[in-house]
Amino acid sequence: MAKSFESHKAARNILAICAVALILLAPPAAAQDLQMLRIGTGGLLGVYYPVGKALAEGITKAAIAPDLIAVEQTSGGSVDNLHALLAGEIEVGLVQADVAHRALQREEPFTELGGADQVRAVASLYPEHLQILTRRDAGIRRIQDFRGKSVSLDEVGSGTLAVMRIVLDAHGLGEKDFDPVYLKPEFTQERLAGGKLQGFCLMAGTPTKAIADIINQDYSLVPIEPEIGARISHAYPYLAAGFIPADAYQGVPQTPTLEVHALMVVRDDMDEQLVYRMTEALWNEQTQTLLREAHPQGQHVTLDSSLSGISIQLHPGARRFYEDKGLLPRGSSLP
Ligand code: GLU
Repeated sequence: MAKSFESHKAARNILAICAVALILLAPPAAAQDLQMLRIGTGGLLGVYYPVGKALAEGITKAAIAPDLIAVEQTSGGSVDNLHALLAGEIEVGLVQADVAHRALQREEPFTELGGADQVRAVASLYPEHLQILTRRDAGIRRIQDFRGKSVSLDEVGSGTLAVMRIVLDAHGLGEKDFDPVYLKPEFTQERLAGGKLQGFCLMAGTPTKAIADIINQDYSLVPIEPEIGARISHAYPYLAAGFIPADAYQGVPQTPTLEVHALMVVRDDMDEQLVYRMTEALWNEQTQTLLREAHPQGQHVTLDSSLSGISIQLHPGARRFYEDKGLLPRGSSLP
């Protein structure tokens, strides 16, 4: 975990240096007006990171917002991004809809997170799927088979861990019943290959590099049975029973699991006009092309689905943009 934290820190430092260089290189008159947007994403092998990188590039290059400079930052995931947003360490975060909603409701484990009611949505980006990859020789065919095995539930600070705790509970299992580790997939590969670890979990778009890079006939995806998915969804409305599509990974059949929408969020005190222009930059043609080039999920980031599965209030600047586009009746409430 320390290694992962250090790597996030190092990546952030490099990005901060690049951003300062960009500001210094800008014409002096414009430099004071530049608005820096740090976008909290996830781990290097997930989907938040490549999507966040494309978003940052699109916003920075958008002719309609020449003063906006956006940079992507690696992070532990949704929960870390919420904390960083509320602490003023980032201006924009990618966050699972269920995590944003549970934080707003002050549900466990978010009871101590002050200010979650200040988080506002800018857009819904794409669906994420809970993916549990295990070594076939470990014989994990269902969640109950975690007993006695070592499985990574992702970092503390990830949305994955928050969901996995719900999933374990729904199967009558706790972290005491097996040997959990809390690592991002980039730190599990050696352990998996060496047989020290039997699997890892990731709530992310498909395909994730974490899985695509290693999956072969020695690995399989563990299903969440639809009845259990439906039960979880009843208790946590923004988590839905869904499927990892067939051939998201070569030769892997459709697998039942949980899904959730990935949201782009900001704080309510962000300037209305600034959020309007950022939303406009997000949905311009150039950003859309960059997103499609960056990752297969980029094709699902569309204006048509920009309001799907939003679990918290929209920022007024984003709301005005969608109203102007005719996607939202003026004065409507959402969700
Ligand atoms: N949804 C994951 C989380 O919040 C991150 C997924 C990704 O990195 O693509 O932890």
